[in-house]
Amino acid sequence: MAVSVFDLFKIGIGPSSSHTVGPMRAANLFIGQVISHNLAEKTHAILTELYGSLSHTGRGHGTDKAIILGLLGHMPDEINPDDIPGLLEQVRESESIQADSQLTLQFKEKKHLKFHKRKTLPLHSNGMQFTALDKDGNELLRKAYYSVGGGFIMSHSHLAKKHIMEDDSDIPYPFTTAAELENQCKEHSLTIAQLMFANEQTWRNDEQIKQGLDQIWLAMVSCVQRGLTTDGVLPGGLKVIRRAPKLHEQLKNNPKTSLTDPLTILDWVNMFALAVSEENAAGGRVVTAPTNGAAGIIPAVLHYYHHFVSDATEQGIHDFLLTAAAIGILYKTKASISGAEVGCQGEVGVASSMAAAGLAAACQLTIEEIHNAAEIAMEHNLGLTCDPIGGLVQIPCIERNAMGAVKAINAFRMADRNDGCHWVTLDKVIQTMKATGDDMKEIYKETSRGGLAVNIIEC
Ligand code: SF4
Repeated sequence: MAVSVFDLFKIGIGPSSSHTVGPMRAANLFIGQVISHNLAEKTHAILTELYGSLSHTGRGHGTDKAIILGLLGHMPDEINPDDIPGLLEQVRESESIQADSQLTLQFKEKKHLKFHKRKTLPLHSNGMQFTALDKDGNELLRKAYYSVGGGFIMSHSHLAKKHIMEDDSDIPYPFTTAAELENQCKEHSLTIAQLMFANEQTWRNDEQIKQGLDQIWLAMVSCVQRGLTTDGVLPGGLKVIRRAPKLHEQLKNNPKTSLTDPLTILDWVNMFALAVSEENAAGGRVVTAPTNGAAGIIPAVLHYYHHFVSDATEQGIHDFLLTAAAIGILYKTKASISGAEVGCQGEVGVASSMAAAGLAAACQLTIEEIHNAAEIAMEHNLGLTCDPIGGLVQIPCIERNAMGAVKAINAFRMADRNDGCHWVTLDKVIQTMKATGDDMKEIYKETSRGGLAVNIIEC
């Protein structure tokens, strides 16, 4: 299986990669299937059914909106977040969806979008099923898809075969474990970033790769900027107030504080992470890194590198992203990056591990030290559950991103000061994370039926 750096870092919209980005892509894909099967003329409506975690936290995570937008033919990376309210209003008022020039669908939301809270599809907790119906309600075409984390989707048949839908290309330096990655690097005298760059040449030329990495970084910078300049209350009913703009004002207006309080730097890292996570919660434009729920960690640590590491370079930013992606591929291949599969250790834990490795690469640490940094960051996120209050990606998610970013920086520093000796390998911690996720009760896997989600009363 071949995963590109641009599969892990996708420009999309909030608040959730598995519950927003994946379902939108699946709905869009199903429309394509209806058209390619020459069923556009006969199709009168599409019934969408959401199962498992998608039905439990789907409303809070915006799955209903994502399905409508996907059926309208939109994709997460091209839709303007500012257009979304108007598009949804038009569909709900007209009770119809113009899916394509040849395909107009009747859309009565209660009838055509169903949340099956007590049912789960057999292969994954984030299942959805689309059925094209003729005007008499007869079934014309039915497909099941699974949103397996980070915006990745798989069809029922692909998941049954365990193949990623996106790509089966041959890459020059394949790896599925940290040990294989290290051996490939050593055998071919490559850094992890160089190896990832060479693999990426399977799909793009050098210029396109560099431009793509720059676009990812610029999307992260824009997201931080919007998060720092947009105040107010986040949508969803919890009345969570955005904190990043106020923190930014405090830090800007008190520059001397950093001279007396060396930990001011943590305030800056927190601020970057809060800015992105608040934008994500508001449904804004973010980069999955590797998921939306954990989208604040990598931008926060990259901003830390850019602003606070004295010899930071553009090449360092590229090395950061490429190396972080290599670590993300290990988790995606051997464990999971889905909160619905393994809890928050698969989202915030993985992002923290990726960020620690990325920072270590940007600061030119050795492969062993990079792996050590990634391992430390995950080791101390093992067992982290997913229990968002009200099914919204807000509490504990927003603060948890800030904690994940600080943990990543600390993991990097511990690896940097270490003598290279460590007991737990990166492969072992990935294996442990997967086993811990398998053992975790279902209520802690993005269902909002356990933990903080049931112990904190919504006001
Ligand atoms: S608790 Fe973690 S995994 Fe769950 S929604 Fe929030 S960020 Fe995602």
